[in-house]
Amino acid sequence: MKEFDVVIVGGGINGCGLLRDLALNGVKTLLIEKGDYSSQTSEGSSKMLHGGVRYLENFDFALVQEALEEKNLWLKLAPHVCFEREFYVPLYNFSKYRPWMLGIGLFLYDFLSHFQNKPFAILNKEKVLKEVPSLEHKGLLGAGKYFDGIVDDAKLTLECLYDALLEPGVEALSYHEVLKVNENVVTYKNRKTGETTDVRGKIIVYTTGPFTDTLLPKLGIPWTPKLVPSKGIHLWLKPGTIEASGSVVLTTKDNRVVFVIPQRDAVLVGTTETPVDQDVFDIKATDREVKYLIGILKEYFPNAEINESTIISTFAAVRPLVREEGSNESLGKVSRFHKIFRPNAHSYVMLGGKYTTFRRMCQELAAEIVPRLGKTYNPNHTMNPLRQKSIVPTFGKKPVMTKDLIQKIIVTEKVSTFEDLVKRRLSLLENMDEMKTVMGVPVSEVKQLFS
Ligand SMILES: Cc1cc2nc3c(=O)[nH]c(=O)nc-3n(C[C@H](O)[C@H](O)[C@H](O)COP(=O)(O)OP(=O)(O)OC[C@H]3O[C@@H](n4cnc5c(N)ncnc54)[C@H](O)[C@@H]3O)c2cc1C
Repeated sequence: MKEFDVVIVGGGINGCGLLRDLALNGVKTLLIEKGDYSSQTSEGSSKMLHGGVRYLENFDFALVQEALEEKNLWLKLAPHVCFEREFYVPLYNFSKYRPWMLGIGLFLYDFLSHFQNKPFAILNKEKVLKEVPSLEHKGLLGAGKYFDGIVDDAKLTLECLYDALLEPGVEALSYHEVLKVNENVVTYKNRKTGETTDVRGKIIVYTTGPFTDTLLPKLGIPWTPKLVPSKGIHLWLKPGTIEASGSVVLTTKDNRVVFVIPQRDAVLVGTTETPVDQDVFDIKATDREVKYLIGILKEYFPNAEINESTIISTFAAVRPLVREEGSNESLGKVSRFHKIFRPNAHSYVMLGGKYTTFRRMCQELAAEIVPRLGKTYNPNHTMNPLRQKSIVPTFGKKPVMTKDLIQKIIVTEKVSTFEDLVKRRLSLLENMDEMKTVMGVPVSEVKQLFS
């Protein structure tokens, strides 16, 4: 039986981030992921690296500050997978806040970033309409303008994985599902062949996000439910559907926010917030949820043509939010802080938090694990740039695609299926069933590479 210092279950951003931190500290680690890496929550986020202006309302200053520090770090470390852009918060005569109040909030936001954010501004009505001409004019008072990061969430996760795998003794498996854990022995199944294998880990870490509450009891680990799972969906709209030079933050009647973010030659719109009790693996958006978002868009952009034909595709994911002891807060207000649990002497569970702060969460856990293995932990290794970049950058200049280049991506970027390639390695947004070519290479030729 193969032996590792650490076995990580779950290959989203938290699993891949922890794998990288442990790998850079010389820990022999195996990561096991049920689907493709980053194919669940960590590719279904709103794709923002942000402090979260709205968390200021909850006085979560420490979380906002930490997230802003991380956002500004990643903008420097990985400019090929993230970039900074402006966000407008339009204020109407029915809005909860007046422009001066928003001004105080945005000043605090910039202050908490140690003034590393590009500076905010409060715009009058004329200025807002010049920059976001399609906004509803009636009742508009002005807008706040601030800056946050946009990220290709799946790519950043993948690049953390590639970076980790450059270290000796570090391995990862996708499409392998953990079925059983008996003390230190983990049994996993190859989902393609059905073959099962045992592996031993001195320490086992579960970074299984929204799947944790159902998975852990099945594996026989002592566990009471910790999550308040909440589903969020997004739409990718055709470019130009909404005329805006930057992103727009809309407040809904139930006091939630919906982001409209132009990027990748499309417009990203999201999100919703509904409790879930069904199976959350590969979760999809429903027609009702799509209609809800279109309804909000129509209120704020009355002249925009938004219908089925302007939607490129949709996606959904479940937030792994951790319930506060004794809290009955609404979903939007459940804290985004993370928690590390220790269900038995050799296991850890890392839950909650935000994508933006993954490196900090992983640092906290790695700082506990590495000394237990008799090594000295250095928290600074993860501040170095990622060493293996994706062949096709999401935001930079794209290479001319050929069948040979696709073959190279399949091998070097750990691709198992056509969907892994299209959605997460090439970051294409189209509905896969309707695609004729993959960046110019006929779909039939690309599919042959997987047969
Ligand atoms: C709608 C929405 C919008 C969001 N927007 C933002 C945002 O803009 N900015 C931000 O900072 N954060 C955002 N978040 C939060 C962020 O996406 C999550 O905090 C983060 O992605 C959680 O990552 P994870 O690795 O814990 O979970 P996941 O990415 O879900 O990883 C868990 C993995 O465990 C695997 N797994 C499950 N069972 C098994 C098993 N038996 N064996 C092996 N593997 C298994 C799953 O396949 C999965 O890949 C958003 C979340 C949602 C849902």
